[in-house]
Amino acid sequence: MISPAPNKNAAPVAADKETQKPSNFLRQIIEHDLAAGTYAQRRWAGSPGDAAHHAQGQPDPAKIRTRFPPEPNGYLHVGHAKSICLNFGLARDYGGVCHLRFDDTNPEKEDTEYVTSIIDTVRWLGFEWNGAADAAPYQASDYFDFMYRAAEHLIEAGHAYVDEQTVEQIRINRGDFSKPGVDSPFRARTPAENLARFREMRDGKHADGAMVLRAKIDMASPNINMRDPAIYRIRRATHHNTGDKWCIYPMYTFAHPIEDALENITHSICTLEFEDQRPFYDWLMARLSEGATLPDGRVLGGLLSAPPPHQYEFARLNLTYVVTSKRKLAQLVYDHKVSGWDDPRMPTIVGLRRRGYTPEALHLFAERIGVTKSDSWIDYSTLEGCLREDLEAKAHRGMAVINPVKLVLSNWDDVFADKGGASHLEPCTQPALPHVAEGQEPPPARHFTIGKEVWIEREDFEEVPPKGYKRLVPPSIDASGNAVPGSKVRLKGGYVIECTGCTKDANGVITEVLATVVPDTKSGTPGSDSVKVKAAITWVGVADGVSAEVRMYDRLFSDAQPDAGGKDFIESLNPNSLKVVTAIVEPSLANALPDQKFQFERHGYFVADRVDHVQGSKPVFNLAVGLKDSWGK
Ligand code: ATP
Ligand code: MG
Repeated sequence: MISPAPNKNAAPVAADKETQKPSNFLRQIIEHDLAAGTYAQRRWAGSPGDAAHHAQGQPDPAKIRTRFPPEPNGYLHVGHAKSICLNFGLARDYGGVCHLRFDDTNPEKEDTEYVTSIIDTVRWLGFEWNGAADAAPYQASDYFDFMYRAAEHLIEAGHAYVDEQTVEQIRINRGDFSKPGVDSPFRARTPAENLARFREMRDGKHADGAMVLRAKIDMASPNINMRDPAIYRIRRATHHNTGDKWCIYPMYTFAHPIEDALENITHSICTLEFEDQRPFYDWLMARLSEGATLPDGRVLGGLLSAPPPHQYEFARLNLTYVVTSKRKLAQLVYDHKVSGWDDPRMPTIVGLRRRGYTPEALHLFAERIGVTKSDSWIDYSTLEGCLREDLEAKAHRGMAVINPVKLVLSNWDDVFADKGGASHLEPCTQPALPHVAEGQEPPPARHFTIGKEVWIEREDFEEVPPKGYKRLVPPSIDASGNAVPGSKVRLKGGYVIECTGCTKDANGVITEVLATVVPDTKSGTPGSDSVKVKAAITWVGVADGVSAEVRMYDRLFSDAQPDAGGKDFIESLNPNSLKVVTAIVEPSLANALPDQKFQFERHGYFVADRVDHVQGSKPVFNLAVGLKDSWGK
């Protein structure tokens, strides 16, 4: 039978012995079930099916079975990533199998776009389902025949009846928290009458909504979900999988436990809003898996394998500055508030991926937030921190100038007179990664050149520097009338330079910064550090720098809880969530492959856009995350 769930409300505890993962109440339950052998007797016939089907199979090779059951009505979002990492992660860690099942019992027009994207997303996160690398996902609609049989089984056993009250009467007679429900006048029908009526429903003899099949439980139950919930309704709709075969469809709360049981799921993990449905889940499983005694004394064998699956609830992910409802995300897409489901500002997994998120960062995030039984909000900076942590060791470095102004080295011609003067380009080299792990092959170094003209950040020059400013400052006269020379800085990976001034246009806007190059200070050459500087600045050569479109993203909403308390989330859209700039990038960045991630030194992590970036000829980068947490608290 169903095992009692131990320590259901226990707080997360120290690392689990076997897996070294932080433990949580679900791990404790699974460990308890494994130790107690709760599911050890179950058989598995290689495909979903009823008790008779599985009885012919082998002892189930999967120690546990979990499932991820999306409805294919939108793209998966960061909340789903939590559920995917949880369900697939538990199966992986405990010698189990996780099923990918499309919950398509609702006869809505299926969109293959969503199905394809869900499959891609789960695969991208690094998981395989249903026990084989090339397995097809399961589809709940494949179980309609069985669900129908289960409904007849309940009717025969006196556990279900056809109710012909109107929707309104049913609603009124259900009662509320303070008032018990009232029995339907149709509740006392015999099983034979109910069976005949239900078959008429199936055969299309009645109009949509004319009657429903209800479980016969308890109209006075304090749990309103137990007051004879509807389990089948009439709905003339063409289903993407079963076409027009059915004009009756099972309700979700009836279908879902059956789907789990047919698939031999052991631990059916869902979000907290289903907690009140668990008594019905258990009620249904008990009636379908153990066999029932008919009024005439016949015992119907268990339709479904025992022991049945058990439902456990965890807190859904709420992330600040994000909405995670497929319906609301769809609204953003269809109202053109974003460029599509994969807009890098979207919390969809395709959006996060395009933004530069890695599967590893999302795994880390899922692990860090853990699973609990109480709702809370996770700060968006937690997600960003995980990406930063993952990219720090992996993302190749590169220099990009985001807000460029030209720097001219006025003595270049003289210093390199014997090498060609003004047109001379001096080759420079920098490592792609500053640190390489023991035993790891360092990636090829970056190559670029320095010449008479380079691009620097406009902010790296100040005519009147604020206190403590260490970058380029022109010569000046101090309060005592003494001449102060211009500051010296290093062009990172290039030479030390000394600032000599700037030129301006008629409006006083700086058009060029002027400096001289200090000979024999090229990075990596002997004696190059004999000249001390207080700062190194990033730069890109005018000769080999390439213009790149850089998309500077900010949070999509300016409200931390955009849809809390029924607020209209559209109203808090951040009008400045995207700023497109033209930056100048070094050659290694222009040659990036789509989806390749980089650290633009001093700026943050960027990714070559998967869609629009063209290697070499049209570089396009997305800001993935800044170097520091700038979500100012
Ligand atoms: P939405 O409201 O966005 O449509 P949903 O729960 O209806 O979400 P499903 O496709 O039915 O979406 O969800 C598939 C699985 O993902 C379910 O098991 C659900 O519990 C889980 N899930 C959905 N949203 C979250 C979330 N924010 N945090 C954790 N798990 C989630
Ligand atoms: Mg849903």
